[in-house]
Formats: sequence, structure tokens, C-alpha cells
Amino acid sequence: AKDDGRCVYRFFESEMDNAARERRMIEVELRDAITKGELVLYYQPMVSAEDEQPVGFEALIRWNHPGRGPVPPAEFIPVAEHSNLIVDIGDWTIQQACLTAVDWPEHLTVAVNLSAKHFRRSDVAQVVQKALNQSGLAPGRLEIEITEGLLLEDPDEVVRKLGELRALGVIIAMDDFGTGYSSLSHLLKFPFDKIKIDRSFVHASGEDDVARDILKAIVALGRTLQLKITAEGVETRAQAMFLAELACHQLQGYYFARPLDPAEMLHYLLTRVPG
Ligand code: C2E
Ligand code: CA
Ligand code: CA
Ligand code: CA
Repeated sequence: AKDDGRCVYRFFESEMDNAARERRMIEVELRDAITKGELVLYYQPMVSAEDEQPVGFEALIRWNHPGRGPVPPAEFIPVAEHSNLIVDIGDWTIQQACLTAVDWPEHLTVAVNLSAKHFRRSDVAQVVQKALNQSGLAPGRLEIEITEGLLLEDPDEVVRKLGELRALGVIIAMDDFGTGYSSLSHLLKFPFDKIKIDRSFVHASGEDDVARDILKAIVALGRTLQLKITAEGVETRAQAMFLAELACHQLQGYYFARPLDPAEMLHYLLTRVPG
């Protein structure tokens, strides 16, 4: 039994070495990716549940790796968060999203994902202010999506910094709503403008009565608190119809559109957005 243990331990150790090596490799390449212009923002439409017309777009980052093609964020954002690169990437994303959205028709908003580590390590309100000034985008057209992870540490400091952001006039959304340990108490700690219901609830609502009841309760809660409610991960017409029936405000998901690369985005704007 002792030998078994050592064997497992040794296996585990070499796995960790590989993971660490892989991470360092990605980190070195990622550092260059920013300056080489290999980072790209894709945009996924959010549509009004009422008439299914686009109301805004969420910016989703991709790394256009010369050898590997578009690398999804799950493979490099954690590495960036492990180093200070997340600050550069986060700053770039906010700036880029504002510069892009200012050319869209005025009724369309743009949403960016803010990493908790980026938020903690920089003066995000100042970064956002600068991006708004530089681009000329109206603050009300920018949405900042944060996850609950951000609210777990030093709540007073976080509430103060979020307050600074909100004072600029940008919209603050709680992302992945319902997946954290205490989504409800966090909703009370800070005046969010919007919640995005995690796609796991939307997905489960297809088969499961309880999931449908939970969705119903979340939408009712959001409405009582006068929050805008977006459901993400809408993949079927049945899900879209159910959510519209609940009077959820906005829908997002593959049923309407996948995240669009810059060329697809241009095409979408030209063909799908009136005016
Ligand atoms: P998220 O913020 O929850 O973004 C939604 C994710 O769900 C996106 O994955 C999107 O492509 C995917 N999705 C959209 N519609 C559907 C659907 O109908 N079904 C399913 N199964 N999935 C759908 P993506 O682009 O791979 O992004 C994953 C996560 O990476 C994001 O989750 C977000 O947490 C993070 N992320 C993306 N872009 C950025 C960024 O610019 N900065 C930071 N800090 N994080 C980002
Ligand atoms: Ca998001
Ligand atoms: Ca989400
Ligand atoms: Ca997520």
C-alpha cells in the first residue's frame, strides 16, 4: 500500500510539472500575442425576448494563434490571471470594445467580461473612464459583466470600487447568476443593474420541472428588484419561448447566433440591424 501511494504521488508530481511547463509556455507566447495583435474580440448578440431584435453584443475574447487557430478563453485567461498579463489583456479588451461599439447604431450596447484578478489589481474605473473618453462611447452603452468570485474578498473595498465604476454611468451585470454560493446575498450587497442567468438553468429547463420553476423564480426576483434579466445559453426555440413567456428581458445563445468573428459581425450589422 505504501508503494502504491508513492507511485501515485510520483505520477501526480510529473503531471504537475507538465502543467506548470505548459503554463509557462503559454505565458511567454501570450505576452507577445498582445503586441502582435493576435487577440481578437468576437461578438455574440443579445436579443430582446419580445421581438428577437438585437439590443447589444457581448465581447468574447479569442487568441488567433498562428499555429493553433482561434484559442478559446478557457485555455489562456486562467494563465493570464496567473501572471500580470490579465491587466494588459483586460485593459485592451475594454478599450477595444468601446472603440468598436461607438461605430454601431446608437441603440446597441456592448458588454465586456471583467476578470476578478484584473479588477483587484488595477484602478478599473480609471481604465473605463479613459476608454470612454478615447472612444466617445456613451457610458450607458457599456456593460461590465462580473462574476461573484469578485465579491468574495474584501467586500468593502470591492463595493467601493464597483461604486466608482457605476458612478461613471456604465451598467453593472452579475454574470453566471445562480452558480455561486450565495448569489442572493451578493445581489443585496451591491446595486447591480442586470443579472445574466447561467446557461445551466436554461439548459435544464428543457427536461426538468424543477429547473423551470427555478428559472421562473429567478426572473420574478430580478423583476422585483427592477433588474434587467438576460438568459444565456438559449439553444432551442422551446427555451426562447418559455423565457419570453416568463418576461425575461433579453436572450443570448446559439439559437440566435454564435459569437461572431469581425467579418461575420460586420455582415450581421449590415443585414440584421435596421437603420
Ligand atoms: P461567459 O461570460 O459565461 O460567456 C458565455 C460563454 O458561453 C461563451 O464561451 C459563449 O461562446 C458560450 N455560449 C454562448 N451561447 C451559448 C449556447 O447557446 N450554448 C453554449 N453551450 N454555450 C454558449 P467562450 O467565448 O468560450 O467564453 C468562456 C468564458 O471565458 C466566458 O464565459 C468568460 O467567463 C470568459 N471570457 C470570455 N471573454 C473574456 C474576456 O474578454 N475577458 C475575460 N476576463 N474573460 C472572458
Ligand atoms: Ca459573460
Ligand atoms: Ca455567463
Ligand atoms: Ca461562464
